[in-house]
Amino acid sequence: MAKTNMSPQRNVMPTQDPKVRGRNFDEVALGYSEEVAVDEALRCLNCKNMPCVDGCPVKVHIPEFIAKIREGDFEGAYQIISKSSSLPAVCGRVCPQETQCEARCVRGVKGESVGIGRLERFVADWHNTFCTQEPVRPASNGHKVAVVGSGPSGLTCAGDLAKKGYEVTVYEALHTAGGVLVYGIPEFRLPKAIVAKEVDTLTKLGVAIETNVVIGKTLTIDELFDMGHEAVFIGSGAGLPNFMGIPGEALSGVYSANEFLTRSNLMKAYLDNPDTPIMKGGKVAVVGGGNVAMDAARTALRLGAEKVYIVYRRSMEELPARREEVEHAEEEGIEFRLLCNPTEITGYHNPEDPRDPKNGFVTGMKCVRMELGEPDERGRRRPVEIPGSEFTLDVDTVIMSIGTSPNPLIKSTTAGLEVNRKGGIVVNEDGLTTKNAVYAGGDAVTGAATVISAMGAGKTAARAIHEYLSK
Ligand code: FAD
Ligand code: SF4
Ligand code: SF4
Repeated sequence: MAKTNMSPQRNVMPTQDPKVRGRNFDEVALGYSEEVAVDEALRCLNCKNMPCVDGCPVKVHIPEFIAKIREGDFEGAYQIISKSSSLPAVCGRVCPQETQCEARCVRGVKGESVGIGRLERFVADWHNTFCTQEPVRPASNGHKVAVVGSGPSGLTCAGDLAKKGYEVTVYEALHTAGGVLVYGIPEFRLPKAIVAKEVDTLTKLGVAIETNVVIGKTLTIDELFDMGHEAVFIGSGAGLPNFMGIPGEALSGVYSANEFLTRSNLMKAYLDNPDTPIMKGGKVAVVGGGNVAMDAARTALRLGAEKVYIVYRRSMEELPARREEVEHAEEEGIEFRLLCNPTEITGYHNPEDPRDPKNGFVTGMKCVRMELGEPDERGRRRPVEIPGSEFTLDVDTVIMSIGTSPNPLIKSTTAGLEVNRKGGIVVNEDGLTTKNAVYAGGDAVTGAATVISAMGAGKTAARAIHEYLSK
């Protein structure tokens, strides 16, 4: 048996040079080689009480899969992960591991935790490259289920049911399946080919995917039942952007992060003469401090911005984005304007010439400096304005990234479906809504959260739907 690697540091993830990658959309992190993956796996102590597993929302059997990597049995490792996670190539890349599985790793006490996410990504990529076995479509059990939305919750629910022989149809509003994994998270963090492969596997399992169908408009939930579906899972996400309500948000050059990223990711706005153009170049301010804000800022840079600011009202300590993403953004030259809050977006107005083409475009963003005051109800110190500290950022584009909410369309067209005051669909522990045979999960229930929690909710609902339809 090979010796344990007692290095306090984990193996470094190779990345593209920041100076080069800031201008291309290729993946930033390049992944471990076989040798490095085995070396990292040797850092795992195979703890009997498995604290790392407690930190994983879907309870991946972490020490077991890492032991397989130590033995060089990478396909064996994949088979262990895929018992609990249906999207390991995605989770290995975008899970907030540092607050989940890796946060509980004992190696993190006196050094860096084992690179669990990096190893998961390695295993999934190895499987996708070398395993040519096609999934086998199970025999139909005669039951039909509809899934609304093709994000991680919908895809997971559809996949788990299809494996049990259900005839599943996924109805997706956009023209491409994958949800935020394709329209939100940019290529340089999560290549579209990885999501396309997952979707392809589902179709081989027999899942039908109907794109360009907006449930609530094209068809209602009740009509899905009229079409012969016996249960419905709603995984429609939380795609409705929030705005600050400050003057100037209607000016040309102000985007929600969702719109900006969707245009860039899905509508190919980065091409010359695209159908859905987007501001390219100039100076850009992104308001917010989450993963979405980092993605919008780094996308703006890759679209040719000469300067990109992150404007966030608290300090670096409270910034909610993943640390790795913040470091990557800093390395690429994104400037962080912390403890700053926008108060107004200013626009160009030529009183002499109402036809001046520059009329109505952003010219700047007025901000005020903040300091941290008393803790709020969640224990986070409340930002308080410093009087007289106003200043103006000279920018041409403003991207608002201050959160999203579930879209009210499905609720407003479905009798008997209750939502909470934030618009999240109300469900019980099995994902069952207040309407018979209608289940829901992911961001549509919780509000904006994580890929792995959406996946977990899809799994829970699939189990409950199976129980309900097997009665
Ligand atoms: P979604 O992924 O939002 O999918 C919902 C799908 O439903 C969409 O395809 C939508 O078009 C479709 N839909 C909506 N309404 C209808 C309708 N009426 N009819 C038919 N279809 C409909 N999480 C992480 O864990 N790590 C990260 O690094 C991370 N980065 C992120 C970066 C960005 C830019 C964004 C926006 C989110 C990020 N998240 C991240 C959050 C994560 O992506 C989401 O929590 C997750 O995708 C939610 O999955 P879901 O299945 O609930 O919904
Ligand atoms: Fe960690 Fe996410 Fe994998 Fe779970 S699914 S082990 S949280 S990377
Ligand atoms: Fe390995 Fe860390 Fe989990 Fe222990 S806690 S089994 S060292 S990954």
